[in-house]
Amino acid sequence: MITFTLAQLPFQVEPRVRGFPGKRHGLKPSASIEPMYRLNNTFIPSHYDVEVRVILDNDGSVGPQFTAPGKVKIIGVNQERTSRIVLHANALTISSDSITVALKATGQRIVVSRVSEEDERDFYIIELGSEINAGDELEIHMEHVAQIMSSDGNGLFYREYLTETGEVRRIGVTQFAAVEARRMFPCFDEETNQSGGMVVYGPTYILFFPGEDPEVQRTLVTLVVCHELAHQYFGNLVTLKWWNEVYLNEGLATYTQYLGMEAVSPDLMGVEYAIIDAVQLSMVVDASENTHPLSSNVTTPQEISAMFTDISYEKGASVMRMVEGFLTYETLRKALQSYLKRMAFQGAKQEDLFDALQEAAVSDDRLPPGLNMHDIMSSWTMQTGFPVVNVQIANETVVRLSQDRFKNNGAPELEGSWFVPITIVTQDKPNLENNIPQVWLHADGASAMVQHDLSKWIMINQNATEYVTFEAVLNLTRYFSQETHFTVWKTFFYHFTYIYTFFSSHPGYNDLRSYLQPRIEAALAAVGVEESDSHTGANAILRAELLDWACSLWSPLCFEYAAELFDQWQANPDNSPVASVDARATLECAMVASSGKKAFDFVFAKYQEAGDALLREQLLSSLSCTIELLSIHELLNKTLNSTSGIKPDDAASVLVKVSSNAVGRTVILDFLSDHFEDVINVIGSGGPQPIAQVLGTLRNYFSTQDQLDQVEAFVAAHQEVLNPINAEIDSAIKTIQGNIIWMDTTGFDIWMWFQ
Ligand SMILES: [Zn+2]
Repeated sequence: MITFTLAQLPFQVEPRVRGFPGKRHGLKPSASIEPMYRLNNTFIPSHYDVEVRVILDNDGSVGPQFTAPGKVKIIGVNQERTSRIVLHANALTISSDSITVALKATGQRIVVSRVSEEDERDFYIIELGSEINAGDELEIHMEHVAQIMSSDGNGLFYREYLTETGEVRRIGVTQFAAVEARRMFPCFDEETNQSGGMVVYGPTYILFFPGEDPEVQRTLVTLVVCHELAHQYFGNLVTLKWWNEVYLNEGLATYTQYLGMEAVSPDLMGVEYAIIDAVQLSMVVDASENTHPLSSNVTTPQEISAMFTDISYEKGASVMRMVEGFLTYETLRKALQSYLKRMAFQGAKQEDLFDALQEAAVSDDRLPPGLNMHDIMSSWTMQTGFPVVNVQIANETVVRLSQDRFKNNGAPELEGSWFVPITIVTQDKPNLENNIPQVWLHADGASAMVQHDLSKWIMINQNATEYVTFEAVLNLTRYFSQETHFTVWKTFFYHFTYIYTFFSSHPGYNDLRSYLQPRIEAALAAVGVEESDSHTGANAILRAELLDWACSLWSPLCFEYAAELFDQWQANPDNSPVASVDARATLECAMVASSGKKAFDFVFAKYQEAGDALLREQLLSSLSCTIELLSIHELLNKTLNSTSGIKPDDAASVLVKVSSNAVGRTVILDFLSDHFEDVINVIGSGGPQPIAQVLGTLRNYFSTQDQLDQVEAFVAAHQEVLNPINAEIDSAIKTIQGNIIWMDTTGFDIWMWFQ
C-alpha cells in the first residue's frame, strides 16, 4: 500500500487563519452584555495622537531592545459625573507621573490622585482628585513602554526577514483585532478595528510561485487576499459595536471572499467552492455539540478570541449566501451598500444589518406580508443549529412541510425552529427564475401546507442538501464514474476519507477498493491522467486528488502512468520527473510503488546525493511508498545503521512514514519490538517521542481487535521506556477502541453494502 496520510487524502489544508470550535469557553446566547469586562461608555474618545518609538535593534541610547516607548494624547467627552477614568492597558509599563488630565476648553488641570491596574480585565484606572461632569471634554496625556513580542503575532510584534544579501532584518507589525491595541498603548479598546487601509499577510498567505506552488496554494492565497480586502469594508469601514457578533466582520468577509475569488480567478470556481468550504463545513460543526449561536454573549478577552470559529466565519457566510438566495444578489448588494454607508466609521450590531436588509427587501418587494428580516435573521443568528425540512404527503392534494433541528448524533431532535425559505418546482412549472421562495416555514414550528396536484411531480428546495441515510448516500455514488465535477468529488473525498482510513487495514478493504477503483478511474480518465493545459485551477486540484486516490488504491491507471514517468526519469536522471507540482508528490510516491526495487534503489541514491533537507524529506516520503515487504524491511533496517546511508536525523521520520504505509503497518510494531534498544539508541536522545508519533499514525488506521492487541502487547513489553508517552498511548488506544466500535456498527453496514 502506498503511504497516503490523512493530510493528503481529504480536503486540502484548511486555508484560513482562525480559531477552532474546540477553543470555545461555554458561550451562551446573547441576552444582555455582561458589563463587568466593559468600559460602559462612560468616556467617548474622539481623537488620539499616538507616538511610538519601535526599538528592534540593539541601540542602548534610546531604550532596551524589543521595547516601544510612547506617548498618547486622548481627547474625548466624559458621559457621567464621576471621579475616575477607566481605560485599557495590557502588559504596558505606564509612568504614573506622566499622566495629566485637563479640561480641553480651558486647559484647567484635574489632579490625578491615584492610579491602579486590574490585570484580569486589562483595566487601567485613573482616580481624580475632584469630580468631572457629564459633557466635559477632556484631554488625557500618558507616557508608557510596550513590549514587542515575536511569538504570538498580537499587539505590536516583530518578524525577521532576509535581505537579498542574506542579512537578517526585523520589521515591526501590529495586529489590533480583537482586543490587542491595548498592548501597544493605553486606550479605550472597544469597538476596535482592524488596521484601516492596511493589510498584513504572513508569507504563506500572499506568495504564490506559478509552476513551483500547487493550485491549492493559489486557492489559499486568493481566498485570504480577498477575505482581507473585504475587511476593508466589514471590519474597518464598519467596525463591531461589540465582539458578541464577530460574524458581522468575519461571516460577511468570508461571504465576500468567494465572490472575489470568482471575479479574479474564475477557474478556481469561488462561488461553488463556497458550498464545500463554507456551507458543508459549517453544517458539520453546527450539527455537533461543539457549536454556538452566531450572536453569543461574550465578555472576557478569552471568550472574545473564542468567537473566531468556523461558526462565525463559515456559518456567517452560509447564512448570507442563503439571504442572497431568497432576496436575490441585487437586493442583498443594495442592502450591504446601505449598511456600509450608514454605519461607516461606527460600530455596528446585527440589528443595523437587519435594518438595511429589511429596507432593501421592502423596496424590492422580496418578502410576503407579515414577514420581516429581523425575525428571519434572528432565527438563524440567535440559536445554534440548522433545520431538516421534512416533506410528507398529507393527502391527494396537499404536501405538508415541517422542520426539526439536525444533529449528527442521531435522529433529529425537537428543538429549535427557523424561518426557512422554500422553493418549489412542479411538473407544470419545472424551472425557477430565481430562488425567491414561494413558501416560508415559520419559526413557531408550525408546519406549512402546499396545495398541489399530486398526480404530477413536485420538488422542494431543488438545490438544498438532502437529509438521507448512509445507504442512500452510498447508492447515490453509484453513478460517480460519470461525475467530473470539482465540488461533487471534493464532497465525496471529504466523507470517503474517513471510511477509507478505517477500512485500509481491515478485511473489508478489498470490497471498498473494488467499489471505488472503477469510479475513480473513470473520472480520472475523463479529467485526464496525463498533464494538459486544461489542468488549471479547480480542474488541476481535482485531477491531483483523483490521481491521489487512484494511486492509493493501486490503480493500474495510476501505476502505468507513474512507471512511464519513472522510465523518463531513469533515462534522464538529472531532471526530475515531468509532473506538475499539484501531482508531483503523489506521482513520485507511485513511481516507487509501481516500479519495484529498481525505483527504490534509484530514489535512495537520489536521497543520498540530496543536500537540501526539504528535498531529502520528500525523497524519503517517496521511498516509504514502496509496497514490497523486502524494501520496507530494508528501509527500516537502514535506520539502525549510521553507515547505511539514512542520516540519523531522518530515522524517526522514516518510522513514522512507514507506519502510514498499509504494508508498513503490518510489520512496524514487530520491527520496533525486535530492535527496541537499537531504535531507542538511534532516535531516543529526546525520549521515546517518535514512538508516540508512530502510534499516533497507526491509530488513524487500526480498526480491528487484533491490531489493538498488537498495540497493547507492544506497549506492555516496553512499558518502562514508554512511560513518558503514557498520555499519547492512552489516547491512541482509546481511538482504536472507538474505531473498532465504528467498524462493528456503521462500518459493518457499509462493508455489507460494498459487498
Ligand atoms: Zn477575517
